[in-house]
Amino acid sequence: MSNRRSFLKKSLLGSSLILPSGLASASASFFKKSLSEKQKPLILSTWEHGMPANDRAWEVLMQSDNIVDAVEEGVKVTELDMDNLSVGLQGLPDREGIPTLDASIMKGDGSCGTVAFVRQVRHPISLARKVMDETPHVMLAGEGARQFAIAQGFPMEEETLSPRAEEMYQEWKIESKYKPIINIENHDTIGMIGIGADGKMAGSCTTSGLAFKMHGRVGDSPIIGAGLYVDDEVGAATATGLGESIIRICGSFLIVELMRQGRTPQEACEEAVKRLVAKNSKDIKDIQAGFLAVNKDGEYGAYAVHPGFNFAKHHQTDKSLVDSKSWFK
Ligand code: ASP
Repeated sequence: MSNRRSFLKKSLLGSSLILPSGLASASASFFKKSLSEKQKPLILSTWEHGMPANDRAWEVLMQSDNIVDAVEEGVKVTELDMDNLSVGLQGLPDREGIPTLDASIMKGDGSCGTVAFVRQVRHPISLARKVMDETPHVMLAGEGARQFAIAQGFPMEEETLSPRAEEMYQEWKIESKYKPIINIENHDTIGMIGIGADGKMAGSCTTSGLAFKMHGRVGDSPIIGAGLYVDDEVGAATATGLGESIIRICGSFLIVELMRQGRTPQEACEEAVKRLVAKNSKDIKDIQAGFLAVNKDGEYGAYAVHPGFNFAKHHQTDKSLVDSKSWFK
């Protein structure tokens, strides 16, 4: 936090302490009201695993006032969650039995970094951050991304599957059917979008992708504009679900552009799902995808193809898990 901002924050805290009690509570309720109306700062993330991730992001935001650090640190919680089968190295592997990871991070000024099809890296989101901060590029993939991780001092992890992932992989191998599997135990990609008190926005997205995907498959999560898009002038959006269906409509970019044209975050998410349904109509019964968006005023919305999608919301006066509405009821 800049000295001035930190000074202002401290001064405000201090001033409410020395005001007469009536005025102090009036001042407190004014701030409470304006925060809840504007919902800033605000952190949102996909699925229930977003709750602990948001807690961490909030903690970092309160300490640092840095929304990019907040969204990076927040999703790192999910990347380490051994119960999660769709984020991090403990996620379900590809058809060869290898976990490969995708991640992206973006700031509202257009800076972004992503990694795709990366192996042996515990925190792909931090690697994506390094791509953004330390290279002239936006995306590194596969072995190149791994070599960059080594050069940046990231430890290389063993590729041993977690016991649950190993069990599910062995079960899958009996038939080895290629069928995209989504919503496994309601764990999916974590996409996090946030807005700081200063109006700066950032987002992060990290996943082990589709279970039992073809080796080399990359989903929407590391594709800027598909799994994540952030623009301080308008808002931010992130996606979860079948990546191919989301890439086809540039889902997150579409939502931000719809908000730029005046739609609310909710209307923009609904329009994106409508577009996704139209472009994927043949298989739509088997496709789940969900979008989450926030605009620069801190209004938010979400919408999914099928019921079951939810998101975690965290702001000054409330943290909760919210069920999203969906196209199919
Ligand atoms: N969107 C991710 C992908 O397609 C998967 C998911 O969200 O479940 O890789």
